[in-house]
Amino acid sequence: MKPFSYVRATEKGAAIQTVAGDRAANFIAGGTNLIDLMKGGVAQPDQLVDITRLPLADVTAISNGLRIGAMARNSDVANNRLVRDRYPLLSQALLAGASPQLRNMATIGGNLMQRTRCYYFNDSTMPCNKREPGSGCSAIEGYNRIHAIFGASEQCIATHPSDMCVALAALDAVVRVEGPNGERQIPISDFHRLPEDTPQIDTVLQHDELIVAVDLPDSPFAARSHYLKVRDRASYAFALVSVAAALDIDNGTIKGARVAMGGVAHKPWRAVAAENILVGAKANEQTFTAAAEATIREAQPQKYNRFKVEMAKRAIARALTKAAGGTV
Ligand SMILES: Cc1cc2nc3c(=O)[nH]c(=O)nc-3n(C[C@H](O)[C@H](O)[C@H](O)COP(=O)(O)OP(=O)(O)OC[C@H]3O[C@@H](n4cnc5c(N)ncnc54)[C@H](O)[C@@H]3O)c2cc1C
Ligand code: SF4
Repeated sequence: MKPFSYVRATEKGAAIQTVAGDRAANFIAGGTNLIDLMKGGVAQPDQLVDITRLPLADVTAISNGLRIGAMARNSDVANNRLVRDRYPLLSQALLAGASPQLRNMATIGGNLMQRTRCYYFNDSTMPCNKREPGSGCSAIEGYNRIHAIFGASEQCIATHPSDMCVALAALDAVVRVEGPNGERQIPISDFHRLPEDTPQIDTVLQHDELIVAVDLPDSPFAARSHYLKVRDRASYAFALVSVAAALDIDNGTIKGARVAMGGVAHKPWRAVAAENILVGAKANEQTFTAAAEATIREAQPQKYNRFKVEMAKRAIARALTKAAGGTV
């Protein structure tokens, strides 16, 4: 591992100024992703600014929703009473991610910023446009079983690995950030990027900006939501396909619907076509199947991940059925 210096921040202004003053400095939170990348030579910061002591770990009710501090641990958020009661979808998604030990270390901010699990990105001997722009994409002609079926580009077909972010996409979360020029709020749908011609840039966060919190607006979906994750093994594994489904049903008719997917695109993928079919329709198997079919019509699979198309279709229909409270 390349040598680096380390400083622990106790005040967010100082943490931001330190990173702002050094292009090769990085914030470090739980370290569960960044340290692995440093060990593999994928990330090579000169300086780490430890932000785990910043007082940003609270989960607080706010006038129109809930605020979750960026330093809150994934396990604490998943088990928080307000989250479990008001946003069970988020709790389920967090508990579907990683292992208990990792969830005890991983933070909300770090989870938003975690990098792809593309094998070639993590292998610094292989060409990868995300790791080294212009070097090529090894996955396009390679073993692309875990890669994207939506929104990929000729530069990169990686997927975003987070479970939490899929639930945040369905819940219309807002990411609050602070930088040297002040604060700004970024809707979760704009936070992560599609790869286009610059796959090395995962998010719209600037180098010197610190995520301080995630806000969840009040939601009518607490009673009827479900996070479904399909993966290679039950103990822990990243999603091949996941679905966050949330329904607001009145007298058998769907008043509101949110469907977001993981494991299928470079960012949490909001299934707008499905939502359009769901709203105003009867909550039944026929509607759920139609919503799933509309979503996968846009899929563009690679050589080794064609199975994801059928898997996604079934996962959407099943997640919606579960959310509605029925059985398959
Ligand atoms: C074996 C294994 C299995 C896993 N399985 C899953 C899974 O199934 N589902 C899933 O979703 N995740 C999974 N993970 C990923 C895990 O959830 C992430 O590693 C974790 O959420 C990252 O959080 P962290 O606090 O450790 O981040 P760190 O590793 O500390 O940081 C990650 C990145 O975020 C940046 N960062 C951190 N906090 C902030 C902030 N407040 N503002 C700005 N930038 C910040 C850092 O600079 C760094 O670039 C797995 C990880 C491992 C190792
Ligand atoms: S899919 Fe993206 S991350 Fe994977 S090798 Fe290609 S450019 Fe790199």
